[in-house]
Amino acid sequence: MNEEDKSVPWICHVCGKKSSTGPGKACSLCFKIACDAHLKLLALKSEKFGNPELKLVCTACSETLEGV
Ligand SMILES: [Zn+2]
Ligand SMILES: [Zn+2]
Repeated sequence: MNEEDKSVPWICHVCGKKSSTGPGKACSLCFKIACDAHLKLLALKSEKFGNPELKLVCTACSETLEGV
């Protein structure tokens, strides 16, 4: 493929906002792209390590989490 396009347009799956500034950030749970307004860092417990890890989680997923 061609690598000329460094800024790939992305769309927030929560609000539908389109942007091409920087790479879109994806939610760690649903792996969908969301804008800064709809992503937040949450301390999620990692089953692997047992310690909470900071993960980017979209607002749609964070609503489904308990106790957040
Ligand atoms: Zn958004
Ligand atoms: Zn998500």
